[in-house]
Amino acid sequence: MLNNRMTFENLCMRNEPLANHSSYQIGGKANFFAMPETVEELLTLLQGCKTHGLDYFICGMGSNLLFPDNPREDTLYISLKKFVYWDIKPSKWFISSGTPMSMLAISGLLFRIPGYEFTYLLPGGLGAGIYMNAKYNHHQISDIIKTVYYVDLSDPTLSVQSIDVSQCKYGYKQSIFQMNPWLVLGADMLAVPGEEQIVLGNELLARWKAQEGMSTLASFYSYMDAESSALTKQGLVIPGEMTDIANYRNGKRHFEYPSCGSVFKNNYDYGIPVGALVDRLNLKGKEYGGAMISPYHGNMIINHNHATAEEIKYLMNTIIEGVNTAFGFEPEPEVVVVK
Ligand SMILES: Cc1cc2nc3c(=O)[nH]c(=O)nc-3n(C[C@H](O)[C@H](O)[C@H](O)COP(=O)(O)OP(=O)(O)OC[C@H]3O[C@@H](n4cnc5c(N)ncnc54)[C@H](O)[C@@H]3O)c2cc1C
Repeated sequence: MLNNRMTFENLCMRNEPLANHSSYQIGGKANFFAMPETVEELLTLLQGCKTHGLDYFICGMGSNLLFPDNPREDTLYISLKKFVYWDIKPSKWFISSGTPMSMLAISGLLFRIPGYEFTYLLPGGLGAGIYMNAKYNHHQISDIIKTVYYVDLSDPTLSVQSIDVSQCKYGYKQSIFQMNPWLVLGADMLAVPGEEQIVLGNELLARWKAQEGMSTLASFYSYMDAESSALTKQGLVIPGEMTDIANYRNGKRHFEYPSCGSVFKNNYDYGIPVGALVDRLNLKGKEYGGAMISPYHGNMIINHNHATAEEIKYLMNTIIEGVNTAFGFEPEPEVVVVK
């Protein structure tokens, strides 16, 4: 029997401000919005969209997208930020899509598994990290996962399927998940914790799930900083790589203003990062309405003062045109501009 929550109508929220679900803190009110917590709830929503003739848009923690000022009336916006569960056994560690990637760095420290440090303070959920192949320096999500579980949204049965990481066509910010209508449910990790660490891992996850409404970059930073500080009180030493990441991100003011991080992908053929090109064009600090090209990082456009999506897009076009005129190529947006 379906529980009360498990109907399409009960799972849907109405007139929900999308700004509350994006690190940009931008986005008008969605006619339909939902935050499923289980696969069953997610599938109920997807099936319900078919029945009610609605489109849907899947998002994670909203840290790499720009929601519209006027969301489409006929679209259900599905956030996976409450889709958080782990299955930890001595031989397997499944992590669901809504789990923040930064939690991997914390749990790597707790479980004494090296290689997850690069995810520290990387905003966003694992599902989008798998979809975007999120990275920091030379490390990327595809390095630490083994098997990805997904739903093929074009398959009428919406059955759960799996794929080995070697088949995922991973490249720089690229994956097979961007080439297909596949919704990532989560992944088995390459490394697994020891049996004695399972309880600690479940406690760590329960603490994350107990907090409500973590939607700003500032609150995300405070939470992860507090978790890592708590571990040092237990005698664990924070690796230098994690301290360097905190210093770098704080230095670039990543958590001070609402943003989506880097707006454009770097063009490795050209060889100079987009941020440095914007700097050469003297565009850092340029404002338009409430939007501003970050004075600290040329590839970031911040929501400085109640910016609209249109104001952010105006500055994106300023950068695209400026770089094209001066350097001969149009930078490709990394941010997902939602229609
Ligand atoms: C301050 C700041 C710093 C950042 N630094 C970095 C960095 O160093 N490296 C880096 O790679 N990124 C960085 N980012 C960008 C962001 O952290 C990543 O792109 C992250 O993967 C986005 O995760 P999310 O859950 O917020 O995804 P969202 O922004 O919610 O979604 C992004 C895209 O993924 C799709 N998607 C989300 N979940 C799923 C799913 N389960 N299945 C299929 N598709 C899905 C969405 O449809 C959308 O197209 C930064 C962002 C900020 C705000």
